[in-house]
Amino acid sequence: MDAADRWLAKKKKEIRKSKKKLPDGNRSYRQRDQILLHLGFESYGAYLRSKAWKRVVRLVSDRDVVCRICGVSGSVCHHFSYSLDTLKGSDITEVVLLCGGCHLSLEFNPNGRKRRFLEVRNLSIQALAQDPSRTQ
Ligand SMILES: [Zn+2]
Repeated sequence: MDAADRWLAKKKKEIRKSKKKLPDGNRSYRQRDQILLHLGFESYGAYLRSKAWKRVVRLVSDRDVVCRICGVSGSVCHHFSYSLDTLKGSDITEVVLLCGGCHLSLEFNPNGRKRRFLEVRNLSIQALAQDPSRTQ
């Protein structure tokens, strides 16, 4: 076990012990990473390679089919929550299918800088509120 493994094992133990203090996951990428560590994923990249995420992608793609914002063919599953239930895949209401263009415009500002998660979340909620398939 090298230093990185020992650090990861220690972090996982700390987070398991402090389960009651798990953040809601909807404030920052740091909260997301804390929840992922609690679930046993050392990084978001590791999570995106997991069976758990592949299952979420399948469920969301079957449900949405097209981009939930503009209606063209969808290609990207977009989180706007990183709650424990969302990351586990037991609640996929805050994961939606988007086209590449809509996804980029939510994740990056017009200057090409990555947005903070709270901004991404708020913009996503606003954009989805205008989803024509949701109106009566
Ligand atoms: Zn779109």
